[in-house]
Order: sequence, then C-alpha cells, then structure tokens
Amino acid sequence: MLRNKEAFKEAFVTKLQSMFGKSISDASVTDKYVALARVMRDNISMDWVQSNDQYTEKEEKQMYYFSMEFLLGKFLDMYLINMGLKETCQEALSELGISLEELEKEEPDPGLGNGGLGRLAACFMESLAALQLPGHGCGIRYKYGLFEQRILDNNQAELPDNWLKDGYVWEFRKPDKAVEVHFGGNIRMEEQDGRLNCIHENYEAVAAVPYDVPIIGYRNNNVNTLRLWNAESINDTFDLASFNRGEYLQAMEYRASVGMISKILYPQDNFYEGRLLRLKQQYFFTSAGLQSIVRRFKKKYEDIRLLPDKVAIHINDTHPAVAVPELMRLLMDQEGLGWDAAWDITRRTISYTNHTIMPEALETWPIDMFKQLLPRIYMIVHEINEQFCKELWKQYPGNWDRIANMAIIADGLIHMARLSVVGSYSVNGVAAIHTDILKNHIMADYNQFYPGKFNNKTNGITHRRWLVKANPKLSALLNETIGETWVYNPMDLKELSKHADDKRVLEQLRRVKQNNKKALAKYIKDQNGVTVDPNSLFDVQIKRIHSYKRQILNLLHIMDLYNRLQENPDLDIVPRTFIFAGKAAPGYYIAKQTIKLACTMAAKINNDKRIKDKLKVLFLENYSVSLGEVVFPGADLSEQISTASKEASGTGNMKFMMNGAVTIGTMDGANVEIRQEVGDENIFIFGLTSDQVFDYYNRGGYNAWDVYNNDLRLKTVMEQLSSDYLGVDRGEFQPLYSYLLHNNDEFFVLKDFSAYAKAQSDVDLAYRDKDAWAKKSLQNIANSGIFSSDRTIMEYAEDIWKIWPVNVLGKRKK
Ligand SMILES: *Cc1c(COP(=O)(O)O)cnc(C)c1O
Repeated sequence: MLRNKEAFKEAFVTKLQSMFGKSISDASVTDKYVALARVMRDNISMDWVQSNDQYTEKEEKQMYYFSMEFLLGKFLDMYLINMGLKETCQEALSELGISLEELEKEEPDPGLGNGGLGRLAACFMESLAALQLPGHGCGIRYKYGLFEQRILDNNQAELPDNWLKDGYVWEFRKPDKAVEVHFGGNIRMEEQDGRLNCIHENYEAVAAVPYDVPIIGYRNNNVNTLRLWNAESINDTFDLASFNRGEYLQAMEYRASVGMISKILYPQDNFYEGRLLRLKQQYFFTSAGLQSIVRRFKKKYEDIRLLPDKVAIHINDTHPAVAVPELMRLLMDQEGLGWDAAWDITRRTISYTNHTIMPEALETWPIDMFKQLLPRIYMIVHEINEQFCKELWKQYPGNWDRIANMAIIADGLIHMARLSVVGSYSVNGVAAIHTDILKNHIMADYNQFYPGKFNNKTNGITHRRWLVKANPKLSALLNETIGETWVYNPMDLKELSKHADDKRVLEQLRRVKQNNKKALAKYIKDQNGVTVDPNSLFDVQIKRIHSYKRQILNLLHIMDLYNRLQENPDLDIVPRTFIFAGKAAPGYYIAKQTIKLACTMAAKINNDKRIKDKLKVLFLENYSVSLGEVVFPGADLSEQISTASKEASGTGNMKFMMNGAVTIGTMDGANVEIRQEVGDENIFIFGLTSDQVFDYYNRGGYNAWDVYNNDLRLKTVMEQLSSDYLGVDRGEFQPLYSYLLHNNDEFFVLKDFSAYAKAQSDVDLAYRDKDAWAKKSLQNIANSGIFSSDRTIMEYAEDIWKIWPVNVLGKRKK
C-alpha cells in the first residue's frame, strides 16, 4: 500500500483531503502530522489484525507485561524505521514540500512513567515485537503523565502534562472490550450445591475501558498490543437530569471519584507512595488486565487449568502484586476452582521482577486500608499468608524470628514484595550485582526456602530507538564500517573492535561525535541561551534527581574545580561543559535543592569571565525520552556515580555507552557488567564497593566529619555551600550541608569525594589524547550489543516465560 514514494504521496494527499477537506497549501503543520499518522495507522491495523489472528490460530503462549509505567517516547519516527518506510516517507514528503522532522515535533511525548522502570517497560515492548514474540503490555492510560519541568528563578516548577489535549493518534479505544472493577463493599458467604461461595456486595463498580496502542516489530509483520486502561463511570451516558438534586450530586461525586483513578501518574521514582488512590490504581489496572486475559483465553480454550501453558503474566516491580490474589479470585469465585488448583495455576503463571533494595521504596499496605478497599482480595492474601506460615513452621519449627521476617502480613502491614515472591515461580533482579544482593542479603531467607526461584536478567535498552533513531550519523558510520547486520543482531557491533586502530575510522567516529555535540550545543543555545564550545569535554549526568544517585557529588567536584581555576585561571585543565538534567519529585526537598544548587552554580560560573570559558554548567529543563535522544549522542563522559549497592541496574549508563560516551562510575548496577565488557582501560571506576558500604551500615565506623576535617578542598566547598558564597542568602543551601554532615552522609558523598576527584583528573588526562579517547569511545560502542534489550528479552522468553517467536505472515505483502 505504501510500497513506493508515489503511493505514499497519494495516500497522504487523499487523507489530508478526506480528514480536513484541505489541500497541502492550506493545511496546518498539525493537520499534516495527523494525516501522516492516520495513513500509517491504516497501514498498521492490517498487520495488527493478522498478528492477533495468527497468534490465536497457532495457539501460541502469550505473555502479558503488567507495569504501572510505560515511558514510551514518540512513535512516528520509530514506526517509520520499523516499517522500513522512513526513506520513502521522507522523500515523498519532501517532494510535497514538507519536512518530516517538522511533523515529528507535533507528536506528544507520552510520559506515562517516572524513569528507568517505565522506560524499561517501553524498551521491552519494542524488543518483544522485533523478536516476533507474542508479548503485550498492560498499564494505565493516565490523563496526566509525569509533570513538565520548568526552571524558574533557579527552582523547579511543575506544570501538568496534558498530553492528550489534542488527541493521540496511536491509540484505539475499544469500548466493547471494557470490564468492571469492584471496590469496597462486603463479602457474604453463601452455600450453593454443597459449596461455600463468596458473594461480593455493596461494592462500587468502575468501568475499565481499554485503549490499545500498536507495538510494531522491526521489519516483520508482528504487531503486539500495549493495552492502557481508562477508568470511567459505569453508565457515563446516564441521564443525570432525571435525578433529584441529592442523587444528582451523588452521581457527580461518583463520576469525579472514578475519573480520579486514571487521572495522574504519581511522580515518585524509587519511593513508596502509600495513598489509597495509588492502591486503587494498582488494583484497577491489574484486575482489568487479568479479566481481559481470562476472557480471551476462554474464547479459545475450554479448560482453565491450561492457563499456565498458554499465558505468562509478568509483574514489573510490586505495583501490580495484587495480580496474585486477583488471579486466585478469578479462578475460584468466577471459574469455580478450589483453593489448591487455583494456587497451583497462579504460581505457574506469574513471574516477578524486583527493581530495588532501598527500604524507602518497598511497598507495604496497612491491613485496614487494604481490607476496606479490597475485602475479597484481603481474605485471599490472608489465607495465602496462613498457608505460607504453616509451610515455614514445618521447615523452621520454633524459629519465630525467621517466620516473622518472611511472613506476608506482619506488624499490621501487607508486604507486597513478599507476596510477589511467594505467589510467583520466578523472581529476577535486573543486574548481576543486584541479583546477588537479593539472593545473599535482602531476600536470602527466601532464596534458601525457594532454591532456584531467584535469577538474574540484566536490563537492556532498545538499540533501535537509542542508536538507529537517536543517532543516525553513528548508525550510518556503523553501516559503512561493519555492515548492517547489527540492527538485527546487536552483538555484531563487536565487529567494530577490529577497527580500533584504524586511524580513518577513529577520525570518522570523532567527526560524528563532533557533529552530535554541535547539535547539542545548538539545543543548549536555544533553550538556555548559553554558548558552549563543542571542543570542550561534554560531561553529562541526566537521570532522576535522587540522593542515592549523588548529583551532589558531581556538583561539589565542580565547585572544587572552580575554586582551583579562580586561584589559577591558567590552570591546565581540559575545558569542560557539565550538563545536568532530571526531574525531582515535587515533595522531595533535598532533590529540589540539588536542582537549585546546579542552576545557581551555572549562573555564577557561566558568567565568570576570569576562568576563560574553561568551565560551563548547564541544567537542561524537562528530561524526557525526547530530550535523551538529543543528549546521549552528544555526550563524551557518562556520569554513573550512585552509592554502590543502590542503583539496581541503571539503563541510562547503557544508552551513553552505545552512543560512544565513556563511563565514570562506581561498582554499582550494570556499571559492573559494562566494565567487564569494555575492560578497565575503557572506563573510569572509583569509590566504595557495595561490600564496603554494607560493612559501614552493619558495623558502623564511618564519620563524615572526619573526612571533612581531613580534606581541605572538600572542607572549603562545604563551607561555601553553607555561606552566601554562591550569591544566595546565607542558609539557602544549609539543608544540603546539614543533610551531608549532620546525618552522617548516608550515601557516602564525602567519603567518595577524593576518589571521584582523582578519577575525574584521570579523565582529564585521558581526554587530551584524541586518538586514545576515540578508541575508548569505539570500544564502548563495540561492546554495547549485550546491553540491547533484545538480549534481555530473549533471556526472559527462554528462561522465564517460555514463549517463542511467531512468524506472522502478512497477506498484503508481496
Ligand atoms: C533511560 C532513562 C531513564 C533512566 O536513567 P538512569 O540513568 O538509568 O536512572 C530515566 N528517564 C528517561 C527519560 C530515560 O530515557
């Protein structure tokens, strides 16, 4: 249908006419964007139907990935690339006098996630389709995604992200596939045919309406489904006018409260949000998703006992952990199975990924809150816990401590991670070191009790978005140098290593990086009004602002460098441009002060003529997938400096590496594996190890004041922080100072400062040798293939889900 340029042009012009009654000359940019997207949508829907039909016909096992967040990014360009239509489209439009790039700007960037966890889910969707695997997503269609960040007077301001305001062309509303989700009420037991049945009464019913987004495979005919649920009142067309006043108000209140469920994404990353509405959101999409899966399953199969053979359900962290009791409820109360059969099926269907070991991020729900909102689900969790504790007692008779530490319900709280471990057949961590910590520290008891259940699946990123789409210049160079097979098989990037000493390739690589840095410099000039030199070293830390990620360590080091430059403006250092971006949760005071510190330092340093442009500091507003696509290709140095043991994996580290940035980082998360891949000479590792961190936590012996008193350079910057030195009111940054010193520096910022400064001076020296640096960059790219989410997804598919590729035959092709 869109095989060639002419067909593309015709389809586009026809669509513009039929949708808007306009010709190209009077159509707005928005009209043209919508028309183009609609042409593609028509094209996609044919493959989509084929995929679903063939998945069903062939009775293939399906996987459903439940995630409260999907940080999707824009789709237009990605879809064109995957459909193999990018060049055709570009040429067709350009002959009509239209720039594809301009149309792309019209697309909203759906920010239905906070950070790494949500972006991982999006990368997984892309890889599943590319690998022809029948794997789908299940989530929430938040009306407002993650807030839009603006910097006003050096402070973060949050604006609502009304991403749906002009409609979203890639979603398909499916009202006929809606289901009901029930909250509150009470449970009555009733005997029927000698069986005790649970009757749920007086509940509040909410309609869950799916909006499906197609996920298109790379140059195949597979189109999978991301199903996002919208909460609506049961009868939204009900004639409200016929109510008397009291009922009218009640009806309106009901409507408003229902609407709230899918209204907002909670803006916290790696932090537990304990509000009732959050639990409502969790049960809402989990129940809706499971109901629709069971319904679809029953259309095809008679025996519900076959569920684990035909369906895999994966929960991304504990946010959808109510899937365990909800599937039990469906199997028992709806399908009529007894407890043991239901439990057996549930535990062979659900698998779970743990994303964090930080206590402040682990989810627990107060029994009373949980019981009131989900009375039937509470009964089931209670019974799961009873039976589990009995098993524990058998294994560890008399060992009350151990049993209390493992019980799902303890201290008036329901522990969702424990529920997830007990109710699933596989628990995985997201990087080798993280899985190791799970198995040997945080969940050691469970690992002993369930030998073989714990496993590692190191995270990955889709190289099609983060390299092919984001960095076309590097992609072209790779194609020229090592051929094009790496797009299908990212491990083929290794071929690039053979050119590590080829001066010509190194020179071309440098030129690509230089061009990407120029593009980034232009973005910075447009957005921040600051001129930066593309010849300076672009040193980048972009990620959520969080104490454990230690943006402050980076900032303290910059202050120190600045001090040294002021003492000696001729100090021999490589000129650097420090680039920050990241959102702080609106209620996270320390994180917001960190942003303020970065922006305040930027204002002071960028305007200081004495230091001869050797230092620039930038804070880029509104980190999002789209901003990342501009920044990663232009980075020289990737800052991955979390306190060892705290960053489960990180995926930003992989995006940088794949785009040829060299990492400065701690032995944390996937940095450990990045080091293994590139070798010590192509990475800058520093700081405490996770074992040392655990030792300090367990045995004490760390005193932040000692470090402060013994390091004059550090002491100086700390005192500057608490004074009016930065041109702010004295006391403005006192909270940061106190946080570091008086709380004894729980993330070891002071402790790691000198090792970090040393590693940074090693970077400075290394960057001076242009060829040597280009070679490091090349080795990072060449060894990044293993961090493609294709590899990650292949491991999940084979080891956990047991799903296999389905070659969808496209009727229309040929
Ligand atoms: C990759 C990505 C992240 C995760 O970054 P980390 O450095 O791993 O924390 C967060 N936000 C966005 C928009 C991303 O693309």
